[in-house]
Amino acid sequence: MKNYLFLLCFLCQSTFAQLPSPENISRHVYQLASDKMQGRGTGSKENQKAAKYVKKQFKKYGLQPKGTDGFYQPFTAKIRRVVVPDSLRKTNNVIGFLDNGAEHTIVIGAHFDHLGLGRQGSSKAEKPEGQIHNGADDNASGVAGLLELARYFARNNVNEPYNFLFIAFGAEELGLLGSRHFVNNPTLSLDKINFMSNMDMIGRYDASRGVGIGGFGTSGEWPEIFKEVKSDTRFFTDKAGSGGSDHGSFYAKNIPVLFFHTGGHDDYHKPTDDPEKIDYKAAAGILGIQIHLIENAMKLPKLKFTPVL
Ligand SMILES: [Zn+2]
Repeated sequence: MKNYLFLLCFLCQSTFAQLPSPENISRHVYQLASDKMQGRGTGSKENQKAAKYVKKQFKKYGLQPKGTDGFYQPFTAKIRRVVVPDSLRKTNNVIGFLDNGAEHTIVIGAHFDHLGLGRQGSSKAEKPEGQIHNGADDNASGVAGLLELARYFARNNVNEPYNFLFIAFGAEELGLLGSRHFVNNPTLSLDKINFMSNMDMIGRYDASRGVGIGGFGTSGEWPEIFKEVKSDTRFFTDKAGSGGSDHGSFYAKNIPVLFFHTGGHDDYHKPTDDPEKIDYKAAAGILGIQIHLIENAMKLPKLKFTPVL
């Protein structure tokens, strides 16, 4: 009996205790979107600090470095939307690998950069220059999701039939530059990627809308994978494989994608996109849906890509 209880307890821990939690998501968002991160503008030392934060968590979860310089994949981003004297900015993708000894790999991603002090274009504030654009929803929320999924899959004591590549992209706000750099300079052969799942702005859940899940048309297998997925968190699907965020770079290389997004709001690309406005419980629910989808997809062979017409 004692052994049985021990086993039961062990099963509970491995199956449930590691699920993404609102507390962990909140901790990451408050770190990444704090004023000391100065809006994580591409090329700033705070942008590098945010990259270092992600790297530290990847290391803690036991992921293997899969960049070109340890966990980092450095590249130079160019600012084109506005004229600035220092238009070339150094930044990184941060890449961690969970090796399950499988042939194919699932990519999970989220961009970690934001608009800094509003001098790189695309701010919607009236006088953006010098104001910290914290980017709690865009996209500290997605990075927190990325970290929680990395923790979940690395520590659930399950050897999944696919490997995982976790990527925090740089310079998304300058035109998907980090993800494009990755797909053009992949650190793992693109034909070994099963699908890519992206999170960009998962913090402003509105129950009357639900979370949007894009990419539904990028593989004929998604309908079957979505079939049994039920959640208290409402969601709807959208066929599009490109548009708006880093999954588009993978779609352009004929890789099936998913894209999680809770929608636009009044604080979008303004200095008021702050951590206290995030719905952490709903964000955890969204990660639950994503885990369910990924686990369903892992029961199938590598998905076949279909273009969305
Ligand atoms: Zn974003």
